This record gives sequence, C-alpha cells and structure tokens, in this order.
Amino acid sequence: MAAELDLSLIRDPALRPIAEHVAEGRRLDAVQGRTLYESPDLIGLGALADFANQRVNGDRVFFSANQHINPTNVCILRNTCTFCSFARMPKEDGAYVRSLDEVFEEAEAARNGPTREFHIVGGLHPKLKLSYYTDMIRGLRERHPSVHVKALTAVEIAHIARVERSSSLEVLAALKEAGLTSLPGGGAEVFSTAVRATIAERKLSGEEWLRVHREAHSLGIPTNCTMLYGHVETTDDRIAHLDALRLLQDESGGFLTYIPLAYHPDNNELGEELGRTGTATTGYEDLRAIAVGRLMLDNIPHVKTHWPMVTPFLSQVALAFGCDDVEGTVVFERIYHDAGAQTAMHLRYHEIVELIRGAARVPVERDSLYHEVRREFDPPPPMRELSRSLPVVHAA
Ligand code: SF4
Repeated sequence: MAAELDLSLIRDPALRPIAEHVAEGRRLDAVQGRTLYESPDLIGLGALADFANQRVNGDRVFFSANQHINPTNVCILRNTCTFCSFARMPKEDGAYVRSLDEVFEEAEAARNGPTREFHIVGGLHPKLKLSYYTDMIRGLRERHPSVHVKALTAVEIAHIARVERSSSLEVLAALKEAGLTSLPGGGAEVFSTAVRATIAERKLSGEEWLRVHREAHSLGIPTNCTMLYGHVETTDDRIAHLDALRLLQDESGGFLTYIPLAYHPDNNELGEELGRTGTATTGYEDLRAIAVGRLMLDNIPHVKTHWPMVTPFLSQVALAFGCDDVEGTVVFERIYHDAGAQTAMHLRYHEIVELIRGAARVPVERDSLYHEVRREFDPPPPMRELSRSLPVVHAA
C-alpha cells in the first residue's frame, strides 16, 4: 500500500510548504533544512520523515547480525581528536594491538551463529602496514566465507596510504582484492573546517574524507556515511554537511546508509571543556537528527539508528521518525562505551526482532549490502522470558 502523508499531524505552519515539496518528491534546499531543524513541531517533522521513508522502504526495518572487532586503540591523533575516548598512545595504560591470531580467535564467536558481518575499525597505528589489514580480511573471509567484512574508515584508509607512501586508491584496491565488502561511515564528524579545528584538528579534512569515499565508489565499494552531532557544530554546519553527502551521492550513488551519531562527553577532553557529562544530546535532538537526515538525504536509501548511542528504546521510537535500519547485534561495542554510553554491550538477535515488531514494523535481516537474508522469524518468546532478556540500560 502506498504511503500516505497525514497533514493533520503537522501543526507548525512553517512545515506546510515543506510538506508539499516532500509529497511531490521534490528536493529540499538549505533554507528548508534550517526550518526542519528549528521547528518545534517534532511530531509534524516525524510524520514528514516517516512518509519519506515509507515511500522507499515501506514497513520494512532492516537489521544485521554483526560482530564488531577493534584491532587496535593506538592512534597517532590521540591528543588532537578531543571528542574521542577510545584512542591511546602506544605506551599508555590500556593501549593494545591485536595480533592476527587474536583477531581470528575473537572472530570465532561468529562460527555456528547468525553473524553476517564483521565491522572492523580502530586507531591510526603508526606502524601497522597494509599487509596487516589485507591478511586480516583475507583470513576472515577464508575462515567465515558467508560473513561480509565492512572495515576501515576513510581516515584509516588515508593513514594506511601514508604509512605505505602510497595512494588511498591503491590501498582501497588492495583491500577489495583481499575481500573487503564495504566501508563504514565513521570519521566524517562534521565537515566544517572551523568545527574540525576545535574537535579534530589534525584529522583528515572533510574534502579528503569525501575523496576517499568517492574513490571507494569508483572501485565498486559501497560505503556508509555519518555525522557526529551534539558538540560545537551549528545548524548551518549540519546542513552543509548533509548537502556535501547528498552531492557526492548524486555523483557516485555509492552510499548505502546515513547514520547520525550522537556525541558522548564522558572520558574525553571536549566533554571536560564543555563541562558536560552523561548524555550530551536530548531525545528531541536524536529524533530530529534522524528525521532531518531522512528528509534532506533524498538520494540515500537507508537511515540507521545507532542504538548503542541513543538507547534501544529511543531507537525503537526513531522507527516512526524516518528510520528504516536498527544497528545490529553489535557483539561487542567498545568505542562509545569508552565515551560513557550506558547501553548494553550487545543485543541478542531476538531482542532486535522484538524491538522492531514492537514498533509495528516488519523486521528484515540483511547483509552488509542490504540483500534480504531473512524475514520469517519465530513467534515472540513468552512475555516473562522477554522481559528478563530486554537490554539493560543503566541510569547515568
Ligand atoms: S577519533 Fe579516530 S582518529 Fe581520532 S583519536 Fe579517536 S581513534 Fe584516532
């Protein structure tokens, strides 16, 4: 059944002309993007985004059974990415580098289980060479041929190219040849030069991040894209960021998913500077980030909610705000938990299925490339069993 836009849900008169644009499938401009961010009518905004999403994805909500692997937390930018709680200097307490055997051992958790994707990201280690990553990807694909490998942000790709005195295009080609399926979307933060000067002074610039993704797309490697929000960025910075993603997607068509990422202020310098602890963003901001992303990025098919950052409960609500993808089982998330995320370290397969069903949507398990893996699931477990197994979200 075709999605219908219920105009009675839209109370803010400023959203009415935008609703006409959305209903006609017309692209929204930057001024309209600002109106979306500034409207107090969260329900109206959600109705618009839900309509835009259902027109593309219907009632389906995707999820993946995935396993996160972080091979090292050693990072040469440890002292300049002020929002990061994960990175360590090589000799600092808690610094680690996994050998390939340790990575393969960790990946054994996927054997005989539902895992369909390894999600691999880490720090910019000064000495790890390209062969470490190609051997890792090759070894994982040999041991787990049905599991996709989504690995290495654009920032890591550019760093490996520097270590090798090579180009990011050559690094990407070698990774693809080793079995890389896709790239995650991390490292984009907010493209604004002024914001990067404050939160990520020495990191890859926005233009360079886009260049690496453009190169990946040119090689037939699909990628995800992100925006880190809720720190020092302005509304105009957010809109310019979304516009840059939309322009690249017009050109290459290689983005699969947009994922807004909520900044967490614990255990990092930026949080101290801003005098914040606990959760930096509000539920309103988190839902608005999903909805505006869905409406502005009219050419990216999927918008994902990252439950480790915003809680599974808010992620469930986000499914009515333009979101069609729940981050996967995530066995085990470390990066945002280092920054103070109080959510569970992973969700069990049936918990995600029930979370999506609870929002009156149709759960669809997917692989990294959004091929449908499964949509028939066992009936829900008895309520008592379900309530015991629901994810624990501790008070901050
Ligand atoms: S955000 Fe990434 S590049 Fe920056 S310090 Fe952390 S791990 Fe390193």
